Amino acid sequence: MTTTHDRATDWTRLFATRASGDPDDGLASILALSTATDLISFAGGFPDPATFPGPVLAEILGDLLQAGDATALQYAPTPGLPGFREFLTARLEGLEGRRAADDELLVTSGGIEALELLGKALLEPGDPALVEAPTYLGAIMAFRSFEAEVLGVPIDAGGLVVEDLERMLSAGPRPKLLYVIPDHQNPAGVSLAGDRRAPLVELARRHGLLLVEDVAYRELGFTGDRHPSLWSLGPDTVVQVGTFSKTFFPGVRLGWAAGPAEVIAGMTWAKQNTDQCAGALGQRLLEEYGRRGLLEEQNERARELYRRRCELLMSSLEHHLPDGVSWTRPLGGFFTWLTLPSEADAVNIAARGMETKVAFVPGAPFHPDGRRNNIRLAFSRVRDEEIEEGADRIGRLLGDELRRLGT
Ligand code: PMP
Repeated sequence: MTTTHDRATDWTRLFATRASGDPDDGLASILALSTATDLISFAGGFPDPATFPGPVLAEILGDLLQAGDATALQYAPTPGLPGFREFLTARLEGLEGRRAADDELLVTSGGIEALELLGKALLEPGDPALVEAPTYLGAIMAFRSFEAEVLGVPIDAGGLVVEDLERMLSAGPRPKLLYVIPDHQNPAGVSLAGDRRAPLVELARRHGLLLVEDVAYRELGFTGDRHPSLWSLGPDTVVQVGTFSKTFFPGVRLGWAAGPAEVIAGMTWAKQNTDQCAGALGQRLLEEYGRRGLLEEQNERARELYRRRCELLMSSLEHHLPDGVSWTRPLGGFFTWLTLPSEADAVNIAARGMETKVAFVPGAPFHPDGRRNNIRLAFSRVRDEEIEEGADRIGRLLGDELRRLGT
């Protein structure tokens, strides 16, 4: 006798074109890798839990509940709670020297939601959307989910190559937006050079191109130096997308978008039937935590931790990686980016890595063209004492691959 279960429908045949990608190719597989405990993992771009707030957060929550603060448990206005918006506006003004007007700011449920909202508000199927090559996988996924054609602009050690962009803009179809991560980029760990920033903003302005500036790692620099943000240079042509995932904690799912009023209005429209509002509880907790000066203290400790990890990894790679492999030297953030000879296949190397109990992410999904000779290493959550051993395991894998290729 057959049951209804035996004749289960293949629901995937109902999927829209935009959902036809393999779920194992996306961010979910990186998140899954990051939960394994029996291996040395350079895989997910996770903050170290050692940086998270401690019991003081329980104290703040207790205070809010004791005071009967219903706003913390209620729906919030779509643009965000007024008190949190005030806190955020003042904080951005301190960091960027620019005060967002009321209609230039939106509180979002993390950085990734801001990218989805931009896609929903701006992109038609087939629209070209420009990104750095390589770039954050979540941005590629967000723009592709609105059936945009994602095109890569080359980067080098100084970030996006503005002359290449200029050539693309004069030759090709007119894109609506360019997504850039100017500080301590994911995945390449490089930053946009100071002298490229104003020309980039100027070029975007000339072409009516919206620059989407993702500042996820901007506050996690290892030196005191910071170049001006693109938003501070061109608030008329730049929308800044930020997140508190790396500076407070990712579980809170909070971020922001600051940009031209019309763009923010479009994103606010898109948010109304996405999640309607970012979580009020997180907004109230972060506002109180921030007003006590605790966010800045947390970031001070986080910068120190990641700087130390990065140094340990750099010297271990120097010792263990074979000739023929190069890597970037980050001045902040979570990542370094390895480049292997062009015929190498990092997807296979990562699979072999699982057998030797070391995890990292092959570069292919970060490249709009899918090229396979890069590896992303995250140093943010690997334990100090495992870095050397992890680099040794990676060095052996890469040595095997180079021998296989006969280089
Ligand atoms: N932008 C970049 C560059 C990131 O690396 C990440 C997280 N890995 C995000 C945005 C998304 O952050 P959130 O947790 O705020 O959605």
